[in-house]
Amino acid sequence: MIDIYTLTIEKAHEEIKSGRLTVRDLVSAYLTKAQEKNSDINAYLRFYSSIEKDIATAEELFASGKATLLTGIPFAIKDNILVEGEIATGGSKILENYTAVYNATVISKLKAEGAILLGATNLDEFAMGGSTENSAYGVTKNPRDTSKVAGGSSGGSAAAVAMDGALAALGSDTGGSIRQPASFVGIVGLKPTYGSVSRFGIMAMGSSLDQIGPFAKTVRDAEIVFECIRGKDTKDATSWDSSEIEKVYTKAENKKIGVPFDFVRRKGIHQDVLADFEKTLEDLKGKGYEIVDVSLPYLHHALSVYYILMFAEVSSNLARYDGIRFGLSRKGETGIASYGATRAEGFGPEVRRRALLGTYVLSHGYYDAYYNKALAVREKIKQEFLSTFENVSLIATPASPVPAFRIGEKAKDPLSMYLEDIFTVPANIAGLPSISIPTGNTQEGLPLSILFTAPHFCEDRLFAVGKDLEQK
Ligand code: GLN
Repeated sequence: MIDIYTLTIEKAHEEIKSGRLTVRDLVSAYLTKAQEKNSDINAYLRFYSSIEKDIATAEELFASGKATLLTGIPFAIKDNILVEGEIATGGSKILENYTAVYNATVISKLKAEGAILLGATNLDEFAMGGSTENSAYGVTKNPRDTSKVAGGSSGGSAAAVAMDGALAALGSDTGGSIRQPASFVGIVGLKPTYGSVSRFGIMAMGSSLDQIGPFAKTVRDAEIVFECIRGKDTKDATSWDSSEIEKVYTKAENKKIGVPFDFVRRKGIHQDVLADFEKTLEDLKGKGYEIVDVSLPYLHHALSVYYILMFAEVSSNLARYDGIRFGLSRKGETGIASYGATRAEGFGPEVRRRALLGTYVLSHGYYDAYYNKALAVREKIKQEFLSTFENVSLIATPASPVPAFRIGEKAKDPLSMYLEDIFTVPANIAGLPSISIPTGNTQEGLPLSILFTAPHFCEDRLFAVGKDLEQK
């Protein structure tokens, strides 16, 4: 008897190819589990209407010998990624009845390989948050401990994979929204290099920071999904083919991992997080890696930079939800009053907070003091990373300073929630690829992860170190 829920993507592929498993059986195993667990976990907001059609396509691809590794593999999709003909809410009330009119490029790519899209997953409204508590559609619980959050903003996608409700999932990461929830539920999460995956068809949050990436149970599975979704797209001018990128920066290729110890051993870091991180570094040494202390002084400003630039970009990107073009529409006495009425009703408190703060940092009197200053420091952070990568192949920190927290614990204190993103935001600021990989558990049994960051377009290094780590 095959235990379907322990299959990796490659194993599932072999089982189907050899005739021991059918696409339909694989899909129904995951769909049944997803439906059974969802009433408690709230990972999925809805299941797609195209599942039967996807199964037929996958069966045809197998029958004609054209199947790839992703053919027939059941996926969960974050509800800020457009799937043609399906509702896409972005976790917001303002798009409650919005139906996508085209596929995001990542969706077209998955569909072309015959992947099965099971449904749309919960998220913090427009991906703004770190716990999925900012969703207009309720919180997503952590399958490992249902009194805890699943992390965010892609908490639904993370939980869907962790509860065996999908074999892999897509999320988006603007400041950690793939890597942090992956670490909270104990799976692998990858944020690719900025520009390596097309952003066409994702609801923009911070356009210079956003990247779509995979959730998976193993590093190899994440790699397989990344190989499918990556690449240049004529519909996204910021996308690149890594093969086109000249090796413009000096990059060390060695077994040295840099750890900014002064940044990691900070006030507020959970002692189990630190203990597990140090144990993992020992493990890596045993596997032939050298750990070196690196200093990146500007990293200490990364969070401030992120929470200025991201707010600014959010406030601009959200201008499109004006009650005229998309979704909810409320009429006021004047045009301006109509915008106000629509947005006041359609947006939740966190989204309104960010739109206000973003408008503030971009306002005439404060533009230079905040926005331009943050842009300058962003460049410093990037340069600091690049010079560090002249000596080390990778940089490591924990994925999050704390394990999954209680539902409601931080919901009333946005600042303490923002502080959780300290280890994940630097990669977005510098556009670097970064992966979180499960390494252990707290004494209470909550998952913990290490975070590796590599030079631009060096995802291969993340996969290599991740696979070494998975080897017992
Ligand atoms: N937690 C971060 C925030 O609230 C990250 C969000 C994201 O990556 N989408 O901005």
